[in-house]
Amino acid sequence: MTHEIAVVPGDGIGQEVTPAAVEVLESLDIDFEFVEAEAGDAVKEATGEALPQETYDLAASADATLFGAAGETAADVILPLREAVDSFVNVRPAKAYPGIDAVRPETDLVFLRENTEGVYAGIEDRLTEDVATLTRVTTQSASRRLAEFACDYVEDSEHDGFTIAHKANVMRETDGLFRDTVAEVAEERGVETDEVLMDAFATHVCLDPAQFDVVVCPNLAGDVLSDLAAGLVGGLGLLPSANVGPDRALFEPVHGTAPDIAGDEVANPAAKIISAAMMLDYLGHEEESEAVQAAVETTLAEGPRTPDLGGDASTSDVTNAIIDRL
Ligand code: ATP
Ligand code: MG
Repeated sequence: MTHEIAVVPGDGIGQEVTPAAVEVLESLDIDFEFVEAEAGDAVKEATGEALPQETYDLAASADATLFGAAGETAADVILPLREAVDSFVNVRPAKAYPGIDAVRPETDLVFLRENTEGVYAGIEDRLTEDVATLTRVTTQSASRRLAEFACDYVEDSEHDGFTIAHKANVMRETDGLFRDTVAEVAEERGVETDEVLMDAFATHVCLDPAQFDVVVCPNLAGDVLSDLAAGLVGGLGLLPSANVGPDRALFEPVHGTAPDIAGDEVANPAAKIISAAMMLDYLGHEEESEAVQAAVETTLAEGPRTPDLGGDASTSDVTNAIIDRL
């Protein structure tokens, strides 16, 4: 079976790290059909549109999308692209790698963040000069869909269960519904859960991240807490993410376009290549996914390294070293 993959490098170092990830995938014995499409600042400058309809349609029909980064136009590109894959969960691993400076080297977490509602539902009003309001939306159906995904995730990855992070003691209706629904689905499925208040989680994860494993959160909490965990593992540079929908998914590094180094061919391709490893797992190629992950890990530990990690290697030196180790 051939997997059709939309490749959307975007702007800045997206143009450098996305082809690197494609090269790694091409070195595997798997049938891919890569279809490249444009998005971001450059295409907006040329055509007036940051996300051409054909790029949207491609993401909405391909088996998976590999996205790089977009500059000023990021919101005009990534929000519709996530919608194109009907993404309801954002998967954000935060794992420290051997040999890389980290505040908490023992960190190895995965956040499963609700990706469609909560305070990001977009219902804001400016009532008077003095007053602005926001409506927070929590639905049983979205909470249930996330919980089903979380149960599948812990079963497939042989985790023991997951932690629900919420603030249901204050937001009794919205987070109450979220917590109750997620816990109920887990119980039906025989998956163990525990729960933690999101503010307490922020403290505990800094002091002792090893006590957490898979963390399921509402939208805003997941956004903030996964960035916090990124700090614990040494910044955004190495982190991948996935936006998963019912039939397709989009994979992107957490970092942006890095305009300060764009064009210098020294961007670290690790985050994008680990995102590609997540895509392999999503497409059912678990063995290859683990092999890519391991080759990246060894390369991070033993070199060559790009300047952001204290080395003087180029993007392609690192990419080739990863392919050689595969
Ligand atoms: P954007 O608005 O697109 O997010 P930014 O200026 O916030 O751009 P980021 O891409 O978020 O830049 O990166 C923040 C810092 O981390 C920059 O100094 C950048 O050079 C560095 N950085 C990010 N990703 C990488 C990478 N893959 N390799 C090397 N350095 C990186
Ligand atoms: Mg940024």
